[in-house]
Parts: sequence; structure tokens; C-alpha cells
Amino acid sequence: MSTTASEALFARAKQVSPGGVNSPVRAFRAVGGTPRFMASGSGAWLTDADGNRFVDLVGSWGPMLLGHAHPEVIEAVTAAAARGTSFGTPAEPEVLLAEEIVARTPVERVRMVSSGTEATMSAIRLARGFTGRDRVVKFSGCYHGHVDALLAEAGSGVVTLGIPGTPGVPAHVTADTIVLPYNDPAAVDAAFAQYGDQIACVITEAAAGNMGVVPPQPGFNAHLSKACAEHGALFITDEVMTGFRAARSGYWQIDGATEGWQPDLMTFGKVMGGGFPAAAFGGRAEIMDLLAPVGPVYQAGTLSGNPVATTAGLATLRLATPEVYERLAATSSQVQKLVTDALAEAGVPHVVQSAGTMFSVFWGVSTPVTDFAGAQAQDTAAYTAFFHAMLDAGVYLPPSAYEAWFLSAAHDPEVDSAPLSRLAEALPAAA
Ligand code: PLP
Repeated sequence: MSTTASEALFARAKQVSPGGVNSPVRAFRAVGGTPRFMASGSGAWLTDADGNRFVDLVGSWGPMLLGHAHPEVIEAVTAAAARGTSFGTPAEPEVLLAEEIVARTPVERVRMVSSGTEATMSAIRLARGFTGRDRVVKFSGCYHGHVDALLAEAGSGVVTLGIPGTPGVPAHVTADTIVLPYNDPAAVDAAFAQYGDQIACVITEAAAGNMGVVPPQPGFNAHLSKACAEHGALFITDEVMTGFRAARSGYWQIDGATEGWQPDLMTFGKVMGGGFPAAAFGGRAEIMDLLAPVGPVYQAGTLSGNPVATTAGLATLRLATPEVYERLAATSSQVQKLVTDALAEAGVPHVVQSAGTMFSVFWGVSTPVTDFAGAQAQDTAAYTAFFHAMLDAGVYLPPSAYEAWFLSAAHDPEVDSAPLSRLAEALPAAA
């Protein structure tokens, strides 16, 4: 497989961008080798600058629920762009997208932003403004974007690159951040016993996906919701990754809707932008209406609710019917089985974990992973060998063992099975 064009682009990129990338995990640091510079995508497939084709199991890290360049999304986006790309005024598409989000989730009001990072940052500011308190509880291994106060024991690129915190975040900024082990209700109770009247909010991924997929234990999110309610803190579920992906509304549909709890605030991103930079946070009207211009909590954005991005998100969500999620769930189960069977046959210890239609594989472990320590016990060297074998076979997996694998409605194991069946061939590299 030729990588000449990607290598040349990477060399040029490194001259003008740190590490040659605009987001660290793309640089293949954890797995080594040259990142593939993609030239185009269609359905379940990506084509790189050298003309190599890959079945894509990254999906732009989650947004591409319908696959790449879905014709109806492209048509809607093209028409929106032709009408003008940004007005700096309210416009209809952002209202339609907000209505769609409100219809699908338990939130009453939505504020649009341009990235998941902005969504979680703003939700925390709002929680602090609403409660008049400063402390924030987060869980180790959960990633909420590169918000200063939340870059403590975070997952995703932070763990992939082995960075516990980061220079540039002053100690006083994380002094109010309490980091607790994931899935540990006793630790939550202890934190509330000590700091109960100072905690503004608890923020958690609705189902952790940034240390690999680690779903909450039954009752864990309900426990967080109850503890927050008892102590006057807000419960924020971060659904940037899981929203409109794990299920039609998000992971809340699988958990809160059945267990009978509701978050006070939620954050969304990825799928709701349909491949464009769009994200949002939302919640009960009494909390959201504290935001400017109604209330005093300031929050703003030049491109927030951008008409092209919100049109892409709206087109994506409208096409994401219950049948699409059923199909995605079936494909996800099929691929999980393919991987499990192949790994079991090759004698590679592993655990496959899922949250709705999202899943990931933990290498070299044989018991379920329930927290960050468990996720970090995996054999990342084995994953690296497997990753490269699969890349050579034409399957594009996340370049880190700590990431979820994302499928799309365009994936069809019947059609795409040629590269996927090479899973088994790739396993000796990892065994
Ligand atoms: N929250 C979660 C759960 C995420 O997975 C991510 C990104 O992966 C973010 C927040 C940050 O989103 P963005 O990368 O759009 O800033």
C-alpha cells in the first residue's frame, strides 16, 4: 500500500502545524507510522491521498452516523451554503434543529455552540451561576473536551498521550475540580459528605466512551442524579459522544428514561452537527433562562447556530429514524461478534464492551472494565500491532486503544465483509 502522498503531506504539515495535525490523536503518536491524509469519503468508505480505500470504523470520531457524504445531507448543505454561509442573526435552521433536540431529549431549552468543548465549558459556567457554588465533580477517564477545569485525569487524547493534566492550566483553575473514580457510588457519597454545600455540579459522560467504552453500572447515573438533587447541585450528562448515537435520543434513552431520572443539563455535539462544527447544551427552562440575554450568565459565539452547520445537523437527525438505529444496532452486534469470535479463536484475551450502538475492544484483559484503572490495564502494544495489520488490510480503526469504534448506517457487513473478514488474518499480529 503506497503512502507516498500522505508522507509528503505530513512532512509539509509538520512545518506549519504542531505535530502536523489540528487535534493530537490524529497524529498516530500512540500507534506510530504516518497518519493517512484522507481525500474523500463515501458511505462506509474513506479514500486517502494515495488512492487507498478503507472501511471506516472511526466515523470522524462519532459524527458520521449516516456515513460519509450522504446524498440528502449534501444536497441540504449545498442549498444552505448557496443561500449564505453565516448571517450573525437568528435564522430558521437553528430553530428547527433546537426543536428536533427538544423533541428527542428531556431538555426544554437549547443553546447552540460550535464544539463539544464549548458546550461542557458553558454548561459548567451555567451550573456555577445557577447554584452560586464553585466546585465541580468529574470522573477519571471521562473526557469533556479541553476545558481548563476538566483537564484532570481525562480520557481520549489525554490518556493516549499519557498526559495527566496539562501545562498551561494554572493549579487554581483545577483546584475546584474533584476527580472521582468512575462507577464508584461510595466515592460520590464521600465527596458530597465533605463538600455537599460547595458542589455546583457533577458532570459525567452519559456512558463513558473516551477510555474505551465503559458503560455506567446499573443505577450509577441514577445515584448521581439523586445525590445532586439531595445536595442542591446540578447533574450534567455529557452526551457529546453518545447523543443521537448510542440510541435515538442518546444514552439517556437507555438509562434515565427507563430508570426514571433526568439530567439538569445535557451537552451534545458530534452527530448533531452532521459532520459540521455544531454542538449545544440544554436543560430545564428555569436553569437555561439564566443565560444572557435573559439572565446574567454570559455566553456567546460568532458562528453559534451557523445556518450551514445546523442544516447539516437537522438533515442528519431527520434521516436518523428509529429504523436507522435498529440497523446500526444490528450492524454493531454483527461486527462485535466478528471481532469476538476472531479474537477468541486466536486466543487473544479481550473484552468487548458496548453502550447502545457504540462499542470498543479492550485488549489483554479478561474481566469487564468498569473504571479508568481497568481501562489502563489493557495491552496497548497488542492493539497497536492489530491496528497496523488492519490498516494494511483496508480497515481504518481508531489510532488508539482508548477510543470507541464507530459504525454508520451505511455500513453493511454483507458488502463490507471483505476487509472486515481480514480481522482474523490480522490477529496473529496481536496475539
Ligand atoms: N465531551 C465528550 C464526551 C467528547 O467525547 C468530546 C470529544 O470527543 C467532547 C466533549 C469535546 O468535543 P469537541 O471535540 O467537539 O470539543
